[in-house]
Amino acid sequence: MPRIRLVTFDLDNTLWNVQTVIGNAERRLVGWLDDHAPAAAALYRRSEDINAMRIDLIAAQPQLAHDLSRLREEILGLLLRRAGYGSAEAERLAAQAFAAFLEARHEVEFFDGALDALAALSRRYVLGSLTNGNADPKKLKLDRYLTFSFCAADVGAMKPAPDLFRRALEHSGVHPYQAVHVGDHPIDDIAAAAKLGMHTLWVNGPAQQALRRTPAEAQATVEIERLDEVVDAIERIEGM
Ligand SMILES: [Mg+2]
Repeated sequence: MPRIRLVTFDLDNTLWNVQTVIGNAERRLVGWLDDHAPAAAALYRRSEDINAMRIDLIAAQPQLAHDLSRLREEILGLLLRRAGYGSAEAERLAAQAFAAFLEARHEVEFFDGALDALAALSRRYVLGSLTNGNADPKKLKLDRYLTFSFCAADVGAMKPAPDLFRRALEHSGVHPYQAVHVGDHPIDDIAAAAKLGMHTLWVNGPAQQALRRTPAEAQATVEIERLDEVVDAIERIEGM
């Protein structure tokens, strides 16, 4: 039996650049509001109001902090009601506006080597994704490679909480030392998975520059800069 059986992947900024994707999705959302609910579009552009709504909504419904999709749709509903739409109409428009956002949110450009790495690894290991965000691997056709995908909303907690990692280990029936987590974030991915005893592979490339200064507890088992190094890196971990 191979020593490593499970490899889990973070998604945003590990497999693609998320800032680019969210920027495009925000523009698509505002464009949709311009076309279908212009009064709400003007409100949406006032980002300090949006931030205040986000804080108020999370204070009233703490579970929204772990469910970015529902949070965004709730903000849109509130915004539309403030713009003068009745409750039912606001709910309908919020759902449509969010759908426009979500479609653009899945127009990702994979980092070089990402899909080849997933394909190669899927022949040897159980693969899964663990994300704090709302990218749906099925919409990206990643379910070709991934046996499971869990998000923070599924477990009610965002990384660095241990819940997502524990869910992956339980779901796969493997011990932490038989698993490698691959991610870009020194705290949410590397320190959090290492704390549970998982091996960690830190993808620390150009998209992650801002996070490079890291605390000692975020020391990864192996660090790489490019996704085409993932397969070799996991072989190295197997040989350790
Ligand atoms: Mg990430």
